[in-house]
Amino acid sequence: MNKKDFPFFQNNELIYLDNAATSQKPQVVLDAMNEYYTSYCSNIHRGSHELGNKATESYEEARRTLAKFIGAQENEIVFTRGTTEAINLLASSYVKGNFDTVILSELEHHSNILPWQLNDLHIEVIGVDQDLNINLEEYESLVKKNPHSLVSITHISNAFGIVNPIKELIQIAHKYECKVLIDGAQALAHLKIDVKSLDVDFYAFSAHKAYGPTGIGALYAKYEFLEEMNPYQGGGSMINEVSFEYSTFLDPPFRFEAGTQAIAEAIGFKAALEYIKQIKGLQAHDKSLLEYAKSSLEALDDIILYTQAKNVSGSISFNIKGIHHDDIGILLSKQNIMLRTGHHCAMPIMKRLGIEGTIRMSFAIYNTKEEIDKTINALSKAIRILR
Ligand code: PLP
Repeated sequence: MNKKDFPFFQNNELIYLDNAATSQKPQVVLDAMNEYYTSYCSNIHRGSHELGNKATESYEEARRTLAKFIGAQENEIVFTRGTTEAINLLASSYVKGNFDTVILSELEHHSNILPWQLNDLHIEVIGVDQDLNINLEEYESLVKKNPHSLVSITHISNAFGIVNPIKELIQIAHKYECKVLIDGAQALAHLKIDVKSLDVDFYAFSAHKAYGPTGIGALYAKYEFLEEMNPYQGGGSMINEVSFEYSTFLDPPFRFEAGTQAIAEAIGFKAALEYIKQIKGLQAHDKSLLEYAKSSLEALDDIILYTQAKNVSGSISFNIKGIHHDDIGILLSKQNIMLRTGHHCAMPIMKRLGIEGTIRMSFAIYNTKEEIDKTINALSKAIRILR
């Protein structure tokens, strides 16, 4: 399915199962970026020449496309370098000074832990059960004990593929006057997102995990909160007036985009979103690959899976009893299969499970059941060698 759209696969026989880290890019994304560089490369939001106007229009069109894609208004989209920068922006421009406590889940990526620590916020953690799900009653009692906090939770766990019930989590948080940030890094490529029907306050994501380029992502924020926020960085493009005595800033979202932005990347991001939009059966494909991978893995001896939950998307994580995950990763790589081993930047949940890391297969629209069969054969071979 769709492999022909990706030049990466035209010159090799690789099986690429590390999509949760970053996905491959379709030709349309490369073409859009190339067109910018070869025919209208120019800086944005300054000057009045024709090329600059065209580049500005394309960049702003990218913002509109992204806003539409997630059901937001265009002035609620702040471009950032990715999810990490979006969370850091929110931490220093909004959360620090307004909140004492941030409520996280045990499944969080380090990008949703460190920004709070660096801004001296108190962290409370909602644990997960043996299937790695959040218990909503326990969550409600934690939120009730910590009203007026920020809840910051991942939409899909990058380490285990668990899809959190974010609509319910948001509703409960709002009952206790909490605000909610959802880390959507893994969700953009796998789920339909509608920030208005979710009533989420903030939502962060990266383009490169959804067929777009690296170096660009966004923070969605309800406009009323963006209006309250101070700039994250200062520099060109984000000001009304500057003097040595004082400066005034543009309205959101421009106030948060200091300096020359990732213009080609924003244009590539737009092309990636348009590409995703025209894919039919994306979620069904995802589900069938995951189910197939799970049942194929379960047929192996000594397999350890970490969840039997049905609410999973994108990734499956496992270990083989008595064998180090990295040894498997190395032997699979030698057989041209690229998957991820390690803690997946989610050390707290690894510690809670008493493991150093896992082997993770993560899927994209170009992966096939045949590739899963080949991976399982290569895995069996690796296990025979290592035993
Ligand atoms: N959050 C989750 C759940 C992730 O999977 C990742 C990346 O792996 C991030 C945050 C950080 O994304 P980025 O490195 O693109 O900023």
